[in-house]
Amino acid sequence: MDDALREVELFRVRLPLVAPFRTANVTTAVKEALLLRVRTAAGVGWGECTAPATPAYDGETIDDARLALRDHLLPRAFAGAGLADVRGHTSARAALECAVLDARLRADGISLARWLGAGRPAVDAGVAVGLVDDLDTLRRAVAAYVEAGYRRIKCKIEPGNGVAVLAAARAEVGPGVSLAADANGSYALDEARRLFDDIDGLALQCVEQPCAPEAVADHATLVEQVRTPICLDETITSATVASDVIARRACDALAIKVGRLGIEESKRTHDACVLGSIAALPGGMLETGVGRAALLAVAALPGFTLAGDCSASERFFGVDGDLTEPFVIHDGKLRVPTGPGLGVEPIPDRLARCTVAHERLTPRG
Ligand SMILES: [Mg+2]
Repeated sequence: MDDALREVELFRVRLPLVAPFRTANVTTAVKEALLLRVRTAAGVGWGECTAPATPAYDGETIDDARLALRDHLLPRAFAGAGLADVRGHTSARAALECAVLDARLRADGISLARWLGAGRPAVDAGVAVGLVDDLDTLRRAVAAYVEAGYRRIKCKIEPGNGVAVLAAARAEVGPGVSLAADANGSYALDEARRLFDDIDGLALQCVEQPCAPEAVADHATLVEQVRTPICLDETITSATVASDVIARRACDALAIKVGRLGIEESKRTHDACVLGSIAALPGGMLETGVGRAALLAVAALPGFTLAGDCSASERFFGVDGDLTEPFVIHDGKLRVPTGPGLGVEPIPDRLARCTVAHERLTPRG
């Protein structure tokens, strides 16, 4: 099928979150995303750029992504050239890859999950709980997510706000539900060691990214010295990096971010985990339904042996706040879309309501 690119529309959207979401590095009250609607020789496809509004996560921002698309990625794609000479900008590249692939798979009548060889019909639901000011609020939130059927509860932590958070959450999370933590790289090695001394008895599924993304040797030290599994997230910028940290024994598990790596690189990263006998979990970026559909298709691959960040739309956007028909929990799981391509697309009036800027780009500029 011909992927020749004829037109790309960029929709900058703003979706208010049901409540501000706080991590060690940033608080998000409104989800901003860049949706791509491409028209290729095959037809129309959608992709979502999940780069956040600020550089607090991995440096790439939504504004960087827009400029990278407009000035570098799309001119090459319109010319039918490869993108091999563009480094970085992985979220921008991932959105374009997804949209072009979606157009092709829609034309071929094949779902993304089937194209990937991902046969699982549904994926364990997981949720991230942001930092809050008091532990009663945290306990109530965790209890509500357990009640809603989530199979994994992940609490954001930061130095000075780790042990108490996790002990409070542990009291609400019983057998059959995984409890995890995510430090978003906020601990120095000594602080992390002290944290693990206090939480190694809590039987956590894992702690994501205790130390900085570049601190591979520190993570290798922790893997050797602590009992709780170490999961790398921000560190994992490619399948090559994944293979490297696995070889260096710097992790027990990997969080694979489809929105950040792209679909094919996520599959390669998943394959590196399988080859290295390392557990993988699907990592979320507060995606709208468009990005969530891609996340679920990839998460249906067999190497994703741990529950990750696949949340219902309601978790972030409320019952009717997502751009697509909402993803909902059935028996602790989210169904993997089965329709052609992503199997979902934005509902036109919701997209119109949430769009704050729109650009149409063609080969003629
Ligand atoms: Mg994480």
